[in-house]
Amino acid sequence: MNNTFFNKQIATKIIAVVYKTNTKQRIKLLIKRDDLIHPLVSGNKWRKLKHNIHHALEHNYQGIASFGGAFSNHIFALSAAGQIAELKTLGFIRTHQLDTLNPTLAFAKQQGMQLVPLSRLEYRRRHEPDFLKELQQSYPSFYFVPEGGTNALSEPGLLELCHEIKIHDGIAPVHSIACAVGSGGTVTGLAKGMPDKDIIGVAAVNDEAMFKQVINNTPDNVRIHKSAIGKGYGKFDNELSEFCLDFYRQTGVPIEPVYTGKLFFALCYQRDELNLSNNDVVLAIHTGGLQGIAGQLYRQQLNDPDWRSILGAHVAVDV
Ligand SMILES: *Cc1c(COP(=O)(O)O)cnc(C)c1O
Repeated sequence: MNNTFFNKQIATKIIAVVYKTNTKQRIKLLIKRDDLIHPLVSGNKWRKLKHNIHHALEHNYQGIASFGGAFSNHIFALSAAGQIAELKTLGFIRTHQLDTLNPTLAFAKQQGMQLVPLSRLEYRRRHEPDFLKELQQSYPSFYFVPEGGTNALSEPGLLELCHEIKIHDGIAPVHSIACAVGSGGTVTGLAKGMPDKDIIGVAAVNDEAMFKQVINNTPDNVRIHKSAIGKGYGKFDNELSEFCLDFYRQTGVPIEPVYTGKLFFALCYQRDELNLSNNDVVLAIHTGGLQGIAGQLYRQQLNDPDWRSILGAHVAVDV
């Protein structure tokens, strides 16, 4: 067992970029580069897993079990974190049949994760206490973490992120802090940790019940922005994928179309709707997730060869 990995992380850097829109507006942004935390366990998944891994090690669990889709960033990160921490991992995957050519699942398997397929009907029950109890009884030595890694123990990791931001803010104050929203854990952690800041959650998932939960669990400082979702979670058009490539060419910051692409698109092209003036300093959290590009190439949702170079340069895995 080994938890040194999670103890030696240092504060991630905050960089300033300028993006010129197609109407020649110059958008200035600050970006907290949590994507650089680790090439395999990156972004908010690292923040959220940290104290969960500590907990599993301290309580002598043999491993961690969790849930995710077949191309999940959380499953990918958990498998790598387990390998590094010398904990077994078990992934319940929403799929009728495990596709071992799928790059996310192939990677997870290579990291030693045991993969168990759940049908859509079963997967829908992933938060139900009865269903969880059944699964826990089948795998009693595993500590269970929900889909996306969001639970009580993900919060202290996110408060550490807030602490790093506050140190920066004390020197050069920011107006708003923005992140992409999946399960809502990250935006909730930011809002709780920085109750005096304007927190913008750019939804990548269309889930009104989850939005409500975020609002109910936070002080009065969160806004959920829904206009960048497009046709839904994981869906995007050419305009968005082209934007991601252009953003990378102009700033050198790699983004992908499921989470961070929607976040930065909103901050560059939907500022009026967000009530942000050009002078408002916005700090965007880069929550990682670049491994997802491999899955989109695999499914031919992305085709431009530039995506392959982005993957090669920023994700430490052969795909
Ligand atoms: C998982 C993920 C999110 C969503 O974070 P939540 O805490 O679940 O809202 C955002 N960005 C990236 C890149 C992710 O992988």
